[in-house]
Amino acid sequence: MLPHFLESVVQLITRTSTDLPPDVRAAMGVAVRSEQPDTRAGQALTIIAQNIDQAASCEGPICQDTGMPTFDVKVPVGANQIWLGSQIRAAVAEATRRGKLRPNSVDSITGENSGDNLGPGTPIIHFDQWEAPDIEIKLILKGGGCENTNAQYALPTELDHLGRADRTLEGVRKCILHAVWKAQGKGCSPGAVGVCIGGDRTSGYLHAKEQLFRTLDDTNPDSRLAEVESAVMSEANKLSVGPMGFSGNTSLIGCKIGALNRLPASFFVSVAYDCWAFRRLGIKVDATSGAISDWLYREGTKPSQPMLSAEAVAAGFPTTGREVRLRAPITEEQVRSLKVGDVVLISGPMFTGRDQVHAYLMKNDPPVDLRGSVLYHCGPVVVKDAPTGPDGPVPPKPQRGEGGWRVTAAGPTTSIREEPYQAEILKRYGVRAVVGKGGMGAKTLAGLKESGGVYLNAIGGAAQFYARCIDQVTGVSLMQFGTPEAMWHLEVHDFPAIVTMDSHGNSLHKDVEEQSGAVLETLR
Ligand code: SF4
Repeated sequence: MLPHFLESVVQLITRTSTDLPPDVRAAMGVAVRSEQPDTRAGQALTIIAQNIDQAASCEGPICQDTGMPTFDVKVPVGANQIWLGSQIRAAVAEATRRGKLRPNSVDSITGENSGDNLGPGTPIIHFDQWEAPDIEIKLILKGGGCENTNAQYALPTELDHLGRADRTLEGVRKCILHAVWKAQGKGCSPGAVGVCIGGDRTSGYLHAKEQLFRTLDDTNPDSRLAEVESAVMSEANKLSVGPMGFSGNTSLIGCKIGALNRLPASFFVSVAYDCWAFRRLGIKVDATSGAISDWLYREGTKPSQPMLSAEAVAAGFPTTGREVRLRAPITEEQVRSLKVGDVVLISGPMFTGRDQVHAYLMKNDPPVDLRGSVLYHCGPVVVKDAPTGPDGPVPPKPQRGEGGWRVTAAGPTTSIREEPYQAEILKRYGVRAVVGKGGMGAKTLAGLKESGGVYLNAIGGAAQFYARCIDQVTGVSLMQFGTPEAMWHLEVHDFPAIVTMDSHGNSLHKDVEEQSGAVLETLR
């Protein structure tokens, strides 16, 4: 069999998870230059750019959500797909062990995490045969936050702000704009969309995701689709959804459209939304040795062009002097003095909690005293007593780790999933600050006002940047939920976030959604 194949796939996974391809870097570079550095959007993009460089330099995951590994494999006639599939699965488990992938495969009935990213449906591997002598493997790592913002439309339909979308390319254009508007910052904008016109509900989504294997700077060979792609790019960026939904000049960095034949009765438009952490790479593999013969989407192993200068990366968060310093535990008075738009730097203890922790807290007392606490919607990548260096995770900075635990990636997860629980948890346990991304809804906004709480938006995907704000892992509770879902006790230092929902009933997310909706009206 191919002696080097497994290690080649591990290398592909590692590079994909830690180093964005040149076309995505170029698009993000344009976005960075389009904003003033001292605006909310500018600060967010500076953190993102720093994070991209930090991830590549320490070979750590760009985002803590390393997504659903999706492989597109082309093999010569006669290749043993059963063996190749087993080796790809083994490579996924090995990359997880090395901390390049977060354990992300969860039993849908029991909620149990398999711990190695293997399980029914995980990873996704598509095989095709081709006439070439080599094996080609393309990989995309698309996380849950952006996956949850995917959308599928059955035309004709009525769309908010845009009116009727008919079974025409004009109707398709409206659907894509609607999907970008609806996503706001929840999918970590600026993002890119892969779109399929037609197919059935299943093949439509699949083909939409396949469009994300195109480079952001290519031109659609079908001039009709190229025209729609170009129109969407220019119109979506007029919406001012902006980075992380903070409002700004760049909402979309790519639009790639494909088409499949459909049944006469159906006309689906399927939209696969990917975040700025657009992790996609590929390799060509020698079909006799399994060694990598070439890289796709990048120039071999040549180091990536940094987003920022080394000094700019080392400088950390770009402060303006107007930041509010908060040390947990936080008082109600401190929280009520904060207003939407304030930038805060948090120090002191912070507890992570996402879906399982919230569900648990609705029925059980918290494992720690949460009065005055900061609750972080985050499922970090955490490793224990692991080797460091080429075969092991590289901690972004030395952390004092209780019990040998070290956090290697720790960005925020999408907060809206906790909307059914958050107000109750604020009220019951005295949590003062919730940190997450993408904002929350009316129920939480009312809860913040009633209980004296604040919602702080951290920069989605900036997993390396935020891992560097963690001084120490002081403990962990609820480990039965698995690493990403456990409650981690962290000690943080100057952790930056922006007040996007305050205790006075104000929500930046609501404002940006309304303002961008008004722009959408003009694009009917
Ligand atoms: S950047 Fe945001 S949407 Fe993308 S994988 Fe990370 S958390 Fe999810």
